[in-house]
Amino acid sequence: ISAPPKTPASAPPPPVAKPAVFIPVNRTPEMQEERLKLPILAEEQAIMEAVAEHPIVIVCGETGSGKTTQVPQFLYEAGYSSEDSIIGVTEPRRVAAVAMSQRVAKEMNLSHRVVSYQIRYEGNVTEETRIKFMTDGVLLKEIQKDFLLLKYKVVIIDEAHERSVYTDILLGLLSRIVALRAKRHLPLKLLIMSATLRVEDFTQNQRLFTTPPPVIKVESRQFPVTVHFNKRTPLDDYSGECFRKVCKIHRMLPAGGILVFLTGQAEVHALCRRLRKAFPFRCSQPQEKEEDSAEGMRRFKKSRTRARKAQAMALPQINLDNYSVLPAGEGDEDREAEMDDEEEALGSDLDLDLGDSEANEGEQPDASLPLHVLPLYSLLAPEKQAQVFKPPPEGTRLCVVATNVAETSLTIPGIKYVVDCGKVKKRYYDRVTGVSSFRVTWVSQASADQRAGRAGRTEPGHCYRLYSSAVFGDFEQFPPPEITRRPVEDLILQMKALSIEKVINFPFPTPPSVEALVAAEELLVALGALQAPPKQERMKKLQMSQLSCPITALGRTMSTFPVAPRYAKMLALSQQHGCLPYTIAIVAAMTVRELFEELDRPAASEKELAELKGRRARVAQMKRTWAGQGPSLKLGDLMVLLGAVGACEYAGCSPQFCQANGLRYKAMLEIRRLRGQLTTAVNAVCPEAGLFLDPKMQPPTESQVTYLRQIMAAGLGDHLARRVQSEDLLDPKWKNAYKTPLLDDPVFIHPSSVLFKELPEFVVYQEIVETTKMYMKGVSTVEIQWIPSLLPSYCQFDAPLEEPAPSYCPESGQVLCHRASVFYRVGWPLPAVQV
Ligand code: ADP
Ligand code: MG
Repeated sequence: ISAPPKTPASAPPPPVAKPAVFIPVNRTPEMQEERLKLPILAEEQAIMEAVAEHPIVIVCGETGSGKTTQVPQFLYEAGYSSEDSIIGVTEPRRVAAVAMSQRVAKEMNLSHRVVSYQIRYEGNVTEETRIKFMTDGVLLKEIQKDFLLLKYKVVIIDEAHERSVYTDILLGLLSRIVALRAKRHLPLKLLIMSATLRVEDFTQNQRLFTTPPPVIKVESRQFPVTVHFNKRTPLDDYSGECFRKVCKIHRMLPAGGILVFLTGQAEVHALCRRLRKAFPFRCSQPQEKEEDSAEGMRRFKKSRTRARKAQAMALPQINLDNYSVLPAGEGDEDREAEMDDEEEALGSDLDLDLGDSEANEGEQPDASLPLHVLPLYSLLAPEKQAQVFKPPPEGTRLCVVATNVAETSLTIPGIKYVVDCGKVKKRYYDRVTGVSSFRVTWVSQASADQRAGRAGRTEPGHCYRLYSSAVFGDFEQFPPPEITRRPVEDLILQMKALSIEKVINFPFPTPPSVEALVAAEELLVALGALQAPPKQERMKKLQMSQLSCPITALGRTMSTFPVAPRYAKMLALSQQHGCLPYTIAIVAAMTVRELFEELDRPAASEKELAELKGRRARVAQMKRTWAGQGPSLKLGDLMVLLGAVGACEYAGCSPQFCQANGLRYKAMLEIRRLRGQLTTAVNAVCPEAGLFLDPKMQPPTESQVTYLRQIMAAGLGDHLARRVQSEDLLDPKWKNAYKTPLLDDPVFIHPSSVLFKELPEFVVYQEIVETTKMYMKGVSTVEIQWIPSLLPSYCQFDAPLEEPAPSYCPESGQVLCHRASVFYRVGWPLPAVQV
């Protein structure tokens, strides 16, 4: 007679009641003593029992309670790792993966050969590794190679509350992997660790986990933190406000460390320098100061270059000729880099100088009050990061200036005062262009409270918020999960590259909306990144049931470029005829919004009006020059972008040149940086392109311009518009208007476009902006003959698609098509195309 099962029949059977093994760890007595103070030690028994009995366990506890450093040790001691099965821990941030592996190795008295880390371009994993810290992107990549993750016995998803897109997808995947492993009697344990108690998205989600996993709460001692709001909210200069606040605290308040929250690396350094100037101390540590940023970056770049080279060597060759591609293979592009918010701040190194110029405003250096100032951000070299955990030199006060890595990922000991600027640098997605950029925005209430909590770890503390309580009241309560804030076509493409075909069934902790999924899949099918559903002769609205199109070879290549799929398609096509440098420049310029200064603003005086008019005329003139005549003008505004980038680089990208030509200097610098990034990305996928960034490109030849027009059309296919025909002109509102497949209303070429007066029949546009009318911006012309071949999914053919395929004639740059007639998606009849 067998005993009734303890768990429901559907759940996998508990494999081992309790591990019989105990692996001794030789900790130093001091370390052991320090550990015992951590609240999580009280829960060791509960956690290990839950892990033994359940495949999935959630551990919740305040930041600093010891989750990250201790839970892997519990598991290690209980024998959850062996020669061929290790303990994996994922972190959304690199900085945490590196710092935590070092800390745990030290606590356990083991070398980094045993407790190791792996981040995208760097790692110290060996054969002996038993505990491996990594970024969530790294584990996602491993799943691509080994879906069952057979080398792990336990996977810990740390910082799940951050709800990064990769953590979310990992949870969805792991919920299935755990079940599959149970079926094979090779159980995998999944631990989810979160800093907040808000875990309903994980526990109450039936699709994610059929049986809600047990939640173990770690009670931690938190001392009261007094929150002080500013009366007024400073508009821009929150850095300066931070500086003043730190000075005040340091001069007037009792001992205790200060932690300042800023938004990016450049700001952090500027404030560090200012504070060091104001409160110098002689016995300062070896010259780390400004070097640390540059040095860290150099190291990072060096290891990245090395990794990329190795990656590139291993890749099969891409043949992009004639719009056909071979699979890009496994060495996909790094997406983890995108997750590190501060990395984006590197481009704004210029801002560094700001801090300096303000540094002496009425502040006399005060050497009698030494302040031990340390920076902390994602890309800081690991040795420099480790400094913050050390006690400050005798007689000094510790002041850490950090980005939001210090919010939950790292706990700095001895902090009594928190200065919170209330801002965070966030990736922002433009729904129209699909382009992402970084913006500084207000944090959520939950984040602000989390920051305040950093002050009460060891004794009662104070948090100074540099904004008013009214402003705080307007903050959103929680940051919405990243996945609901952004368009998903890039994500869907990445998931398809992981062979997740039915995305609609994927157990997202918080799913994106069905409309977002349908729109994404439709676009990807149209771009050729996904296979169209069978029998789909013309592109209809995809049904939900059809959301399972597999990825194509082209899609695989596209998935390796760090830009939105429309632009990725352009890059994937550009290997031919030496178009790559031009496409890269155009894509970079399209990605940076508002290249030109705003000159349409109302003028305050007659004089200003005259000046504005003069500048407008000059800019219009320059645009015409950059667009050129004849064939090059047909590339329209995209030719203007190319011309502007080329001309600006020729002039050394000087502020004077930009000013004189109505270009935004900052935008031009941003474009230069993006061009560098995209060049590296293309080289990683396609080493034989042997691309190097030549800022001063030669202008494209006439035929290259034609190819570029085709490339742009292929990427912007869903943004095709056709001028209304004279017989449609019943209503005067359609004069000079264009019709697009998606909008019922007329759209117009924007007056700032070089094609405003040209009125070509077919155009593609980058975006539509609505002011008095709906205007297309970023317009380029398309030849009617190209449409069936470049954009077949937007056409309706009167003969089956298998009929003689459209072919491409390199000499004429034209598409040969033998079909009798072609209908554009909305049914506008096109003349028969016979070439
Ligand atoms: P949690 O993951 O719950 O936020 P951690 O395990 O990261 O907590 O931290 C537990 C404790 O270990 C904290 O008090 C923290 O200050 C300390 N700690 C973490 N890393 C280091 C380090 N490198 N040096 C000294 N103390 C550290
Ligand atoms: Mg942690």
